[in-house]
Amino acid sequence: MRISADYHTHTTYSDGRTSHEDNVRQAIKLGLKTIGIADHAWGHAFYGIKKDKLREIKQEIDRLKERFPEIRILLSIEANILGRSGQLDVTEEEMALFDVVQAGYHFGSKPSSFDDIVSHLINYLNRLFGLFKKTAIKRNTTALINAMKRYPFHILTHPGDKGPVDIVAVAEAAIKYNKLLEINQRHHYLTVEQLRLIRDMDVKLIIGSDAHRLEDIGQVADCIQRVIDAGIDPVKVVNLRTI
Ligand SMILES: [Zn+2]
Ligand SMILES: [Zn+2]
Repeated sequence: MRISADYHTHTTYSDGRTSHEDNVRQAIKLGLKTIGIADHAWGHAFYGIKKDKLREIKQEIDRLKERFPEIRILLSIEANILGRSGQLDVTEEEMALFDVVQAGYHFGSKPSSFDDIVSHLINYLNRLFGLFKKTAIKRNTTALINAMKRYPFHILTHPGDKGPVDIVAVAEAAIKYNKLLEINQRHHYLTVEQLRLIRDMDVKLIIGSDAHRLEDIGQVADCIQRVIDAGIDPVKVVNLRTI
C-alpha cells in the first residue's frame, strides 16, 4: 500500500524548512498525484503564517500550478481549534481562499478566551502528570465536535494529539459533518488503539505526513502500519492505494 496524495506538508512560512517549490518537486519525484501545502494559521503564537503574506503565498502557489501541471497542487492551511466553543483562528470567509482547509488542536495557539487558557492548562497537566484525564477528554471532545459543527473545513488533523479525546464521539461527528479524520505520521495520532475503536464506523480517513523537512514528504510508513494493525479497510482511507 502507498499514498497517492500528501495533503499535509509545511514550509518556511510556518515551522517547516522547505519552500513551496521544494515540496512540489519532492512530491513529483515520489510520484505523488497531489501535494497539499498546509502551514499553521495565524493564531499559532510561534509558527503561524503572517496574514500579510497570504497574497504572496497564493501567487506562489498559482505560479507553481502553472509550472508543474503534472501534479495537483493544493493551497491548504492548518487552522487552530481554540477552546470548547470550537472557534477557529480562520474565518469562514478566509477559508474560501484555500483549496483545502484542515484544523487541529495545538499547544501553541494564542488563547482567544479564558476558556482556551483553562483547556491548555488542563491538557498540559494531563500530559505532564496524568491529571484531569476525564475533564480533558470532555473538554477536547466538545471542542473538536463544535469546530466540525461550526466550520466547513475538510480534515481534522491528528485527533487526540496534545489533548485526549473520545474518538468514537469525534468520529460520529466527523460522519455527521462530513470531515476526514487524519492519520498523522509526525504526531502518531490517530493511534492503532483509536483506529480499532472506530474500525467499524463509516468514517472516512486520510493519511498525512505533516512533513516539516524535505525527506519527510510523502513518508507515511508508520501510518500505513497502523491501518494494517488496526484492521482498517484501506478503502476508508481516501488517499491510500493498494498496489
Ligand atoms: Zn498540527
Ligand atoms: Zn501540521
